[in-house]
Amino acid sequence: MKPPSFDYVVADSVEHALHLLADGGDDAKIIAGGQSLVPLLNFRMARPSLLIDINRVPGLANIKKVDQTVKIGALTRHAKLITSNTILQNLPLLPEAAAWIAHPQIRTRGTIGGSLAHADAAAELPVVLLALDAHVTAMSLRGERRIPIKDLLVSHFVSSILPDEIIVEVSVPMPPARTGAAFDEFSRRHGDYAIGGAASMVTLDDHGRCVSARITVLGGGSTAIRCNDAESLLIDGELTTTDIAAAAKTAVNDLEPVSTVHGTSAYRREVIRTLVERTLIQAVHRATPTMESMD
Ligand SMILES: Cc1cc2nc3c(=O)[nH]c(=O)nc-3n(C[C@H](O)[C@H](O)[C@H](O)COP(=O)(O)OP(=O)(O)OC[C@H]3O[C@@H](n4cnc5c(N)ncnc54)[C@H](O)[C@@H]3O)c2cc1C
Repeated sequence: MKPPSFDYVVADSVEHALHLLADGGDDAKIIAGGQSLVPLLNFRMARPSLLIDINRVPGLANIKKVDQTVKIGALTRHAKLITSNTILQNLPLLPEAAAWIAHPQIRTRGTIGGSLAHADAAAELPVVLLALDAHVTAMSLRGERRIPIKDLLVSHFVSSILPDEIIVEVSVPMPPARTGAAFDEFSRRHGDYAIGGAASMVTLDDHGRCVSARITVLGGGSTAIRCNDAESLLIDGELTTTDIAAAAKTAVNDLEPVSTVHGTSAYRREVIRTLVERTLIQAVHRATPTMESMD
C-alpha cells in the first residue's frame, strides 16, 4: 500500500522542529529513522498531515560522557550503539541488546529516540534502558522535561511523550564498579521480534555479596517490566545458583504474556524465566573479578 498524502518539512534545528510541531497540532509527526513510522504510513495506520524530518538537525546524534553519565543524542542509530567506544566501554549492556534489533538495514536507520517514543513492547532498547535506570530529556516550546524510562513507557505503542514534545537525549548513569550485566532473548529466527527476553544487572561488594540487582523483561506484558520482587530476593545474598533460580521463578510470577501464533502465554513465561536465570548467571560471572584483573 501507499501512504496517504502529507506535507514534509526538513527541520534545521530543534527549535525549528518544535515550532513546526506546535503549529501542526495533533496532525504533525516527527520522523527520525522511519523504520516504524513508514510501515505505519504504508498500512495507513498513521495519517499525519505533516511529517517533520529531524535527520538533519545538528548535534542530535552525539554521544558523550559527562561525569558518571553517558548522554546519547536521540538520533543515534541502533548501529552506532554497537560500535561507539564510549558506549562499549561504559554501558556494554546497550550494544549487547542493540545487536538483537532486526537486521543491519534497520539498525542503520532506526534511532534510540524513535524506539523509545514508539514504545513497542517487544523492543530491546526500552528493556535495557529500564534496567540501566536511564531517563530521557524531552523538549517542547514550553520547556524541558526529564522523564525516567519507567514513566516514559506507558503501554504497547504508548509513551508519555506529548504531541508537542521531541526526545532530544537519553541519559544513562554508568553502573558502579563490580557490576555485571547481560541481555538475552529468544525468537524463532534471528532478527524477528522476540518471543521473550531479559536484562539482568548485579553489583557485588568486596566479599561477593549482592548490593544491587536489577531485572527487566521483554514480552511479559504491554511494556518492558521491572521485576522488583525478584530483585529483592537477591540483595545481600551470595547469588548461588539456587538463589538465582528462585529469583527467576519469582520474576515471572506476575507476568501476563499475551498468547500469539509464536507461543502461548505459559510458553512465553517459561522462555522469560529461562532467560532471566541465564542473564543473571552471566551478569554474576561478569561482575566477578578475574585473577588477572586482581593483579
Ligand atoms: C522489519 C522490521 C523489523 C524490526 N525489528 C525490530 C526489533 O527486532 N526490535 C526493535 O526494537 N525494533 C525493531 N524494528 C523497529 C526499529 O527499531 C525502529 O527503528 C524503531 O522502533 C523506531 O525508530 P525510528 O528512528 O525508525 O523511528 P520512526 O519510525 O521515525 O518514528 C517512530 C515513532 O516515534 C516518533 N519519534 C521518532 N523520533 C522521535 C523523537 N526524537 N522524539 C519524539 N518522537 C519521536 C515518531 O513520530 C513516530 O511516532 C523493526 C522495524 C522493521 C521495519
